[in-house]
This record gives sequence, C-alpha cells and structure tokens, in this order.
Amino acid sequence: MCVFCKIINNEIPCYKVYEDDQVIAFLDISQVTHGHTLVIPKKHYENIFVLDEAIAGELYKAVVKVSNILKKGLNLTDLNIINNNGPVAGQTVNHYHIHLVPRYPDDGVSFFIPPIEVNHDKLANLLEQILNNQ
Ligand code: AMP
Ligand code: ZN
Repeated sequence: MCVFCKIINNEIPCYKVYEDDQVIAFLDISQVTHGHTLVIPKKHYENIFVLDEAIAGELYKAVVKVSNILKKGLNLTDLNIINNNGPVAGQTVNHYHIHLVPRYPDDGVSFFIPPIEVNHDKLANLLEQILNNQ
C-alpha cells in the first residue's frame, strides 16, 4: 500500500487541513514554504492519465476550498498549485496529489523555467501531431 493510502487508512499520521467524502488535504512533511499542503483523492490513482474525471471535479473543488482555508489561516495573497506526473516530471509518490504552495515576498522559491525555441511552423506541426494521434 502506498504512503498516502496509509495516511487515508490512519496507519500513519498526518497534519490534516481538510477532509470530505472523497478528498483529504494535509501538510506536506517537507515544507517548501510555510503551509505547503497536499490535496489528494482518497481513492488511489497513480497519476493524471488514469484519474477519474468525476473525482477530478471533486478534487478541484477541494483545492479551491483548501486554498481559501490557507489564505484565511495564513493571511495569504499568493499561492502556486503544482502537480507532478511521472518520475521525469518529479513525481515521487505514486498516488495522485496536488501541491498548494503558499508564496511570500522574498521566500526564495523560484519556478523559472527557460523556454525552448519554437516558431510558428513548429507550433503548427506540434498541434497537427497532437490532434492526429487521438
Ligand atoms: P511529488 O514529488 O510531487 O510526488 O510529491 C510528493 C510529496 O509527498 C513530497 O513533497 C513529500 O514531502 C510528500 N510526502 C511524502 N511522504 C509524506 C508523508 N508521510 N506526509 C506528508 N507528506 C509526505
Ligand atoms: Zn495510494
């Protein structure tokens, strides 16, 4: 059983911020910034590619709720929402989860990613490839 399923089963503890029938949110054990929270479905889905769409709807409703709980609780104005899918994308726990990362002035966190070079031909080819492979 994965570590997040163990949290849901109360086999290991967590710092619970929010819970409803299908979703639970708890503080990330490794805080990127103060209040860094994970929002997860109670049912185990490995990643976005297998996530049930109805669950995704419930999950994102909870993301909005938890964002506002953090906003009120920590007097926030800024927040990043991050989700990693697959090891190349940085996923380390294979139970779908959404990171809520409160942001503070001068918190030292940077998500700057330099863009790759593209032009209109490349974008048109990319779109054709994507849509032709459905
Ligand atoms: P990711 O790299 O997107 O898969 O994120 C996994 C996150 O889960 C990391 O930020 C970890 O710090 C966090 N994490 C792992 N184990 C626990 C735990 N027992 N309780 C809370 N957060 C955890
Ligand atoms: Zn799980």
